[in-house]
Amino acid sequence: PDGGPTLHVEDVDVTYGRALSALRSVSLTVPPATVVALLGANGAGKTTLLRAVSGTLRLHRGAVTAGSIRYGDTVLDGKDPVAAVRAGVVQVPEGRRVFAGLSVDENLRSGGLGLGRRGRAQVQEARDRVFTLFPRLAERTHQPAGLLSGGEQQMLAIGRALMAAPRLLLLDEPSLGLAPQMVHRIAEVVREINAQGTAVLLVEQNAGMALSLASHAHVLEVGETRLSGPADELARTDAVRRLYLGES
Ligand code: ATP
Repeated sequence: PDGGPTLHVEDVDVTYGRALSALRSVSLTVPPATVVALLGANGAGKTTLLRAVSGTLRLHRGAVTAGSIRYGDTVLDGKDPVAAVRAGVVQVPEGRRVFAGLSVDENLRSGGLGLGRRGRAQVQEARDRVFTLFPRLAERTHQPAGLLSGGEQQMLAIGRALMAAPRLLLLDEPSLGLAPQMVHRIAEVVREINAQGTAVLLVEQNAGMALSLASHAHVLEVGETRLSGPADELARTDAVRRLYLGES
């Protein structure tokens, strides 16, 4: 594969409603088939950046008011989620929002919507890929998603996004609220997805996990970039060790 395009976020400002500034002059790139981590405290603007890229900002009354977001030659700022999905950019929302009343299989099928007509073979191939990554989902295809454990629901949320065959996956706090063993499993899954050629922009409060997966990382602080660099270098800086890795 050619690896796909690079995501360019350049000097982006985001505002919610009329006045609330959530991001100021934020820039980052995600080259093809890399993992880039976005760290920062609650409210720093991490989710907002993912929304700006995936076209879901407007659903939250937000807007990109300056700067640009491009995925290769495709302009994404000001576009809707369908445009992003068609370009190969898919977000997994925070809080593993699956459709609780629908079965595992119905949830997965919803992940390919908006792509236009795809052949059965393509859908089947995407499903096979998801079930290879998540054998537990394959055993529970007819179960209502609401009956799955928290970790399984997170897997389903990721699986649903993979049904759209993304080249860039936007992952919002996949480890949130999960037991350590499940966090470990999610990390393995991210590594596997990336090894198959999909780029990942990973938002995490679990900085240890994120920095172990990522090649580059950015630390946001109240809407601005505080630190950026190679993940191994950031992991050695005092600020990151103190604030995000829990060292004193
Ligand atoms: P968290 O880990 O809590 O999700 P975050 O770093 O992802 O934090 P955001 O959710 O992007 O941060 O929030 C950034 C800022 O934007 C915060 O001040 C938040 O209150 C504000 N905000 C987020 N969503 C909205 C919204 N729909 N309307 C108004 N303000 C919002």
